Amino acid sequence: MAPSSSRAFSSIPDAVIVGTGLSGLVAGRILHNAGLDVELLDTRTRVGGRCLTASVGPNNVACDLGAAWHWEEHRRVAQLAEHLGLERIRQYEPGPEGPEAIRETDAQEPVERVPWPETPPPSWRIAEGIQTIHRRLADTLPDGAFRFDHRVVSLRRTDAHLGVVAETPSGRVTVLTSTVILALPLRIASRIVYAPPLADSVMDHLASRPAWMSHSAKVAVTYNRPFWRERGLAGRVKSTAGPVHDWHDNTTPDGDAALVGFMHPPGPGSPTPTDAEERRDRVVRQLVHCFGEEADGITGYAEHDWTRDRATTPPSGSESDPDEEPQPVPALQKPQWDGRLHFAATETADEHPGFLDGAIEAGTRAATAVEHRLIRRGMG
Ligand SMILES: Cc1cc2nc3c(=O)[nH]c(=O)nc-3n(C[C@H](O)[C@H](O)[C@H](O)COP(=O)(O)OP(=O)(O)OC[C@H]3O[C@@H](n4cnc5c(N)ncnc54)[C@H](O)[C@@H]3O)c2cc1C
Repeated sequence: MAPSSSRAFSSIPDAVIVGTGLSGLVAGRILHNAGLDVELLDTRTRVGGRCLTASVGPNNVACDLGAAWHWEEHRRVAQLAEHLGLERIRQYEPGPEGPEAIRETDAQEPVERVPWPETPPPSWRIAEGIQTIHRRLADTLPDGAFRFDHRVVSLRRTDAHLGVVAETPSGRVTVLTSTVILALPLRIASRIVYAPPLADSVMDHLASRPAWMSHSAKVAVTYNRPFWRERGLAGRVKSTAGPVHDWHDNTTPDGDAALVGFMHPPGPGSPTPTDAEERRDRVVRQLVHCFGEEADGITGYAEHDWTRDRATTPPSGSESDPDEEPQPVPALQKPQWDGRLHFAATETADEHPGFLDGAIEAGTRAATAVEHRLIRRGMG
């Protein structure tokens, strides 16, 4: 996969996919495999969307700062990983009989070592990081099918074409096509200008569905060795003191030690400082409080705050509710504009909306509908 500049873009593509997260890439691969000419636009300069794998510390440990895990019932993720030849690793988790976890309720009081109350359902992550899935999918598409740094702002329908209008560093461009798949967060889709306008009910559905987990920020740290395991600890912390409310062990099967955690969103009234250096200091101090002085010796640090990432969370909107899992939205599974405009973000899936698995389902549903429509039209 190469940046868009390597292609002339002289012909009109059969389909334009907006968004190169998992749903957009899955859709792109299906349409390309069906022999259709497809272009993928993204406002970012990378594929992956809400999946972001950082290489942290001197050993470049793959740490997922967005989505990381899939569970037994997320069979589409497991199948895709297998198809792409990617190794899955089982998450190291405590259970009632296993290594202990840490409970931290007050930064000034000693922490408690606790047996984990229940056996967690098994979960897996991708050994080289979740974003490897996106890179591998992108590699199956032609060089030049991608246009990065293209922020789509409006869609215009005429009898002959759809026009996808995007802001780029060199000004506005319009890409003509016959079909569009919007594989981007629904609240961002609600800010696109549609001409002619979509029904109010559709716009309301789009506007009222934040990207799942967009309330979240993640942090990763690496160490020379997983010293907590030597002390019978699982690397799992549950904290109400912060700045991180949940820590998980991200150590590799080769023993490269890492922890990843979910931070309380920064801001007024929250325990997470907004200043980056102060935040990092507080994170390390929390780890020392939980695991002892040895935790001071981090070898690497990375973080990503999704609440401030405008390609996931548009400004002046509330983020997702941490306690609420998205529900299917049948109205958004129906194409608009006589089958020429489809929504494919994970939040439109029937099964596991909001999750990686939902993104695969939604991208597959939209691409299959487009394929049938375009191939039927071609034959008719
Ligand atoms: C912190 C965090 C943790 C998570 N943990 C898990 C987990 O453990 N397991 C799990 O299953 N799921 C998890 N998720 C959810 C998972 O990340 C999503 O289900 C999945 O990545 C969504 O894929 P998508 O393609 O639907 O959307 P996205 O990944 O959001 O992709 C949308 C794409 O649209 C692009 N875009 C946005 N606006 C525009 C525009 N105007 N013009 C052009 N392009 C645009 C974006 O740049 C992006 O590439 C987590 C998410 C977060 C944020």
